[in-house]
Amino acid sequence: MPRRILVTSALPYANGPTHLGHMTEVVQCDIWVRFMKLAGHECLYVCADDTHGTPIMLKAKAEGITPEELIGRVGAERRSDFAAFGIGFDNYYTTHSEENRRLTVRMYEALVAGGHITRRPVLQAYDEQAGMFLPDRYVKGTCPLCRTPDQYGDSCENCSGTYTPLDLIDAVSVVTGTPPVARESEHIFFKLADFEPMLRQWTRSGALQAEVANKLDEWFDAGLRDWDVSRDAPYFGIEIPDAPGKYFYVWLDAPVGYMASFENLCRRRGLDFDAYWKPDSTAELHHFIGKDILYFHSLFWPATLEGAGFRKPTAVHAHGFLTVNGEKMSKSRGTFVTARRYLDALPPEYFRYFLAAKLGPGLVDVDLNFDEFATRINAELVGKLVNIASRCASFIQRGHDGRLADALPDPALYDEFVDAGIGIAQAWESLEYAAAVREIMALADRANLYIDRQKPWLAARDPARAAEVQAVCTQGLNLFRALMIYLKPVLPAMAERAEAFLGAPVRHWRDVDQPLVGTRIAEYQALATRVDPTALQKLVETPMTTDAQKPVAPAVTAEISAEEFARIDLRVARIEAASLVEGADRLLQLTVDLGGARRTVFAGIRSAYQPEQLIGRHVVVVANMKPRKLRFGVSEGMALAATGDGGLFLVGPDAGATAGMKVS
Ligand SMILES: [Zn+2]
Repeated sequence: MPRRILVTSALPYANGPTHLGHMTEVVQCDIWVRFMKLAGHECLYVCADDTHGTPIMLKAKAEGITPEELIGRVGAERRSDFAAFGIGFDNYYTTHSEENRRLTVRMYEALVAGGHITRRPVLQAYDEQAGMFLPDRYVKGTCPLCRTPDQYGDSCENCSGTYTPLDLIDAVSVVTGTPPVARESEHIFFKLADFEPMLRQWTRSGALQAEVANKLDEWFDAGLRDWDVSRDAPYFGIEIPDAPGKYFYVWLDAPVGYMASFENLCRRRGLDFDAYWKPDSTAELHHFIGKDILYFHSLFWPATLEGAGFRKPTAVHAHGFLTVNGEKMSKSRGTFVTARRYLDALPPEYFRYFLAAKLGPGLVDVDLNFDEFATRINAELVGKLVNIASRCASFIQRGHDGRLADALPDPALYDEFVDAGIGIAQAWESLEYAAAVREIMALADRANLYIDRQKPWLAARDPARAAEVQAVCTQGLNLFRALMIYLKPVLPAMAERAEAFLGAPVRHWRDVDQPLVGTRIAEYQALATRVDPTALQKLVETPMTTDAQKPVAPAVTAEISAEEFARIDLRVARIEAASLVEGADRLLQLTVDLGGARRTVFAGIRSAYQPEQLIGRHVVVVANMKPRKLRFGVSEGMALAATGDGGLFLVGPDAGATAGMKVS
């Protein structure tokens, strides 16, 4: 019985280029969708750009364009990146659409009617110069708990403490550099706790992975708080109908974008929207998301759907992050790999294969290790899989005019390959991709072993054994075809080339049941070539600065007088020792020589520097900084560094300067 399934992957935020983190998610989702379609199910895959919110508004302003122009440009880049990686969306749309506005308003009005919306005043940081309320991440200052400078307004990266922007010491607005003031405004809240009984039941209904359901229990125990769903103008988003000057918080309308994209598809294809979204719908709804947005998809989203009279998701599948050579993707380390940079260096399907070989159904991170990547492509994809076809094809072409034998010489071996398809299908469906790839590669070993034993290259020397050569190579090509069918969800383009070569298009997973005999094959052309390991290095060599991602410099802060500047005693210092600080991921402990005096300085530069790189370097420090007591010791100065989107860079004098020199 074919299932009707609607699938989504999370909406990528439209304020930067597509990177391999996005690609991990859409590839995982795409493999699943392609498998379900191949298995005969009616499966639709929709997605959209997430386009609203303060960052997009400010970024467009900094570029001197409208937000619509910005999201139009990013959306076009993103579509072409996804297409290059073979992502087979049925519809890719945008949350800045009339469908999304209508559906979001409809959802809100239903929540109001159900009594699930409440209003109350909120005291918030306000930038008087910019004339706007500041999101938490737009206020920076010194942590009120551990006194680490340059922390965001919601939490401290050093001590992990949480607070509000107004708690920060010496807080400044990131937008204008001016100190924010506290201002009150009425906000609109969604009463999440109204849905606790439903959520407790739904989270244990099989809709979530067990480890996710356990995480939710912690959130239930902590208590479900009201969710602030409004933002004051200026904001780029959807206006709230009964609250002039107020907009829906981007996270309310973003998941509605799944429905909006689907509604747009319904209109194009004449599908029935309600059949998928009404509460008693028999269609399935699957969301693929990163583990960082679980709260939104496993609490807010099902609750708002329920409150607005829609169905709830059948399943939310969360996955881990992509790391590069064991490190978090980072712009300052040059490991922030954009889709474009990857495409300039390597074939897209190699990434799809590598991911499939690494992905399981859990939340663990996947590491893009370059050595492993090259090994898997060269040893598995090229050395094992493609090798089967290239070893057999020429004998059929040369000796038999491209015609396959009329029967398989070893039907039992072929049946083993067919039977293995049952377990492989289960693995794809349950997101056990690594297990599926393992099984397919074990079969590839068996196919190669078969050819090794039959030695068609020896038999081909004896014209009397021509029929034997044809039969053995027909067997080999059929084993190869079975494996290509099993990998078709992962390698759609390569599978298509293989089908063209074999002269037999594959339309269904069970096409494997019928071997190809007595038919003609086309000329063999290389299906995959080895990876040059130097190509992988191109992914990380230089930190990325594309035009789309040119860092925008923050506005200049309020003026100071020459006297005020002179109060800061800046000195050249030589780093004598540097070490990691246990319990502080961002800090390095430096011992610096100030031309006689020795100081200890804790600097938040660990993300960009290894301790051993720093010894002997000259830097500029604030020598008359009031000593600050940290958990790990006393910091007796501050090392100057340039920071921004491009990373973090220590400031040093030109060659010749010596420790202790005054900087002015
Ligand atoms: Zn702190």
